[in-house]
Amino acid sequence: MRAWEVIRPGPVEAEPLRLVERPVPVPGPDELLVHVRACGVCRTDLHVAEGDLPVHCPRVTPGHEAVGVVAAAGRAVSGFAPGERVGVAWLRRTDGTCEYCLRGSENLCPASEYTGWDADGGYAEYTTVPAAFAYRLSEGMDDIALAPLLCAGIIGYRALRRAALPPGGRLGLYGFGGSAHLCAQLALAEGATVHVLTRDPAARRLALDLGAASAGGAYDEPPEPLDSAILFAPAGDLVPVALRALDRGGVLAVAGIHLSDVPPLRYESDLFQEKELRSVTANTREDGREFLALAARHGIRATTHAYPMEEAPRALRDLKEGRFDGAAVLVNDRRPRG
Ligand SMILES: [Zn+2]
Ligand SMILES: [Zn+2]
Repeated sequence: MRAWEVIRPGPVEAEPLRLVERPVPVPGPDELLVHVRACGVCRTDLHVAEGDLPVHCPRVTPGHEAVGVVAAAGRAVSGFAPGERVGVAWLRRTDGTCEYCLRGSENLCPASEYTGWDADGGYAEYTTVPAAFAYRLSEGMDDIALAPLLCAGIIGYRALRRAALPPGGRLGLYGFGGSAHLCAQLALAEGATVHVLTRDPAARRLALDLGAASAGGAYDEPPEPLDSAILFAPAGDLVPVALRALDRGGVLAVAGIHLSDVPPLRYESDLFQEKELRSVTANTREDGREFLALAARHGIRATTHAYPMEEAPRALRDLKEGRFDGAAVLVNDRRPRG
């Protein structure tokens, strides 16, 4: 099969990825082999390719928003049929035994493994996934539309819950890419007023089209104080900006896995009056199942830009340069290769 691998983490302009021929992977006893149809391109893939995240698995295949069908199953797997559509997401494996796992916070498991970082992911024709961490996907949405929900959507959902938005509250979204535009749709469906703050004019237009009450520049002040805010842009210098935009008792959740340094905070303006600053770390499987059900109920749709799987580096460059709004998705050609 063909698969992309990170040969030398570095700027995408220096081509850190290489397309190679590899044997189709053999699923472990508790794993599924998945024929990948589509795989979303997440900013974390860019961090893996560029070395912002340390190398966990040399020559790893990135990609953790894979939609595909079960091609084979390990001998210990039951309950999945060949041909069944499944999703392969970021959280790949936890120990299930530590204090965090036992209290329902498996996203904090110190032994957790991640798809496309600790093990090969979906920038390939086939990938594997532990069956217990595969998501069953309902019919009614196509592969390309579903792919970005698997990380961008689930993380946006967890960030929204971490931001503790009160019912009917005022939510600020800083940055408006793949994750934020899904989070916005859910917040709007649940009755929030959404203000979007982003440098990208196309993203501001998309925000208004989706129903945001306002869309301004990343460093602008929103038109009203915010009950909650979520920082999606990987820019630490927006942390004090967003904290100052909060109303008393407001919560800022930082959604990204990677953030540039946060400048010094001023207690009086940025934290006093019981403002809270929280991080978001991966997600639990429960988050994933809840979000996928809500997405189906509310008709949450990713704005997608399809690229052939062969053009993964171009998709990553376009993501880095902010050349599209919404989310890029790599699509495998389904014609048999001869
Ligand atoms: Zn654990
Ligand atoms: Zn991701």
